[in-house]
Amino acid sequence: MGPSYLVHAVGADGRLRVMAADASAVVREAARRHGTWPTATAALGRLLTATAFLAADAKHGSVTVRLAGEGPLRGAVAVGEADGRLRGYVGEPHVDLPLNGAGKLDVGGAVGRRGFLYVTYQPESGRAYTGSVPLVTGEVGDDLTEFFRRSAQRPAVVGVGVLVGPDAEVRAAGGLLVELLPSAVDELAETVEANLGAIGSISRLIEAGARPEELAGEALKGCDWRLEGGRLPLAFRCACSREKVEATLVALGPEELRRLEGDGRAEVRCHFCNAVYTFTRDELRRLAALAGGPAGRRGS
Ligand SMILES: [Zn+2]
Repeated sequence: MGPSYLVHAVGADGRLRVMAADASAVVREAARRHGTWPTATAALGRLLTATAFLAADAKHGSVTVRLAGEGPLRGAVAVGEADGRLRGYVGEPHVDLPLNGAGKLDVGGAVGRRGFLYVTYQPESGRAYTGSVPLVTGEVGDDLTEFFRRSAQRPAVVGVGVLVGPDAEVRAAGGLLVELLPSAVDELAETVEANLGAIGSISRLIEAGARPEELAGEALKGCDWRLEGGRLPLAFRCACSREKVEATLVALGPEELRRLEGDGRAEVRCHFCNAVYTFTRDELRRLAALAGGPAGRRGS
């Protein structure tokens, strides 16, 4: 398994724009951290890959993508930074459904076919804004395609896939985003559709050794095309830190910290990466003092 990264390509005189990503290492790390079962692994992996596309497309700041469906996964959230850092989680990691009619992991069944996809853009400066669309299939790729069409009004096709082995390990993960600029829609839609049809399973191609550059080439087959810019490395990397958790605890106030101190220790778990931060009684006492309370003197 090589390093995860994303590439941009343009074809047909700039009328087709493609992003292609190998996210295998990112998704494997996400599955390891959260202990996800196969269907949940696929859902989280597809969401992380799709989020990588949106964040790279935004070029700066961060993008949060939330799947709110009524399935057993109980929702999923991913955050992507424009520099390729990704993090995310699912509501219920222990979801493993029977394969669907196509013999694939039933991500739509896990997410639920009723619900919404929310995309929040947080620019480096300025206000965040959120767009949403009703879920189409809950399979993530279809839902992102619908998001581009309805919310961003940009015709694009998003394909994301995760291949999970019989041992529940991530074998490969990645995706393609093909955007058709308005002048290309009529003329090139068929070519793109035929190319994507010929690709079939993106994750199987990646497992067989295809790199993102080759995936882009397959999507743009029959057109003049070229890569644009360099590789964007993708990594599962959370934004949490002990300092941030301490600040959150201090914000709870002296009363709450005194209560935690009474419990002897406190454990704070980061949703996004499942890291656990443990605080001893002495540390809680120190934080209570920072919070401005008298808890630090108790018992001394
Ligand atoms: Zn974290």
